[in-house]
Amino acid sequence: MSSLSLFFYHLKTITLVLFTLMLLEIIVLIRSVMGLSSKSDKRLITTNQYLKLIEEKNPTTRYSRRLRTDQPHPAECAVCLSEFKEEEEIRRLQCVHTFHKDCLDRWLQQCSATCPLCRTKVLPDEVVASYHRMQDQVEYDGSDEEVIFFLSASHGTSFNRFF
Ligand SMILES: [Zn+2]
Ligand SMILES: [Zn+2]
Repeated sequence: MSSLSLFFYHLKTITLVLFTLMLLEIIVLIRSVMGLSSKSDKRLITTNQYLKLIEEKNPTTRYSRRLRTDQPHPAECAVCLSEFKEEEEIRRLQCVHTFHKDCLDRWLQQCSATCPLCRTKVLPDEVVASYHRMQDQVEYDGSDEEVIFFLSASHGTSFNRFF
């Protein structure tokens, strides 16, 4: 009698494990299908396209001390707080605030698509939203690998334990 209840206990555990694994595999499948469909989605913007749009709207120029006269603010980059040097690559936004090209591009990618000083929008909202959707997609890909790793690990260990 006790061996029978033990059998049912094991049966319950095995069913539970199998059901969990099946559920995880379904999640991975759905995610990969979703990933495929959104990769062909033209509304997603890669980092390169995003930087190209910034460049189109606010072309890179080289700093020259002669420009200083028409600048209302001190000739320093508000992101890294260092003074512009002759011939350094700079980017001037529509709000006339000027930053190092690299400093500004990093800011626009990591923080927000607005001027670090006055918060004037640099790119339209839909462009920024598309770019961040793309970034989220990249993060999902990372977590997929974790789930797959977990799956392969659990296939290796729990199955050996129960069978
Ligand atoms: Zn800078
Ligand atoms: Zn500004």
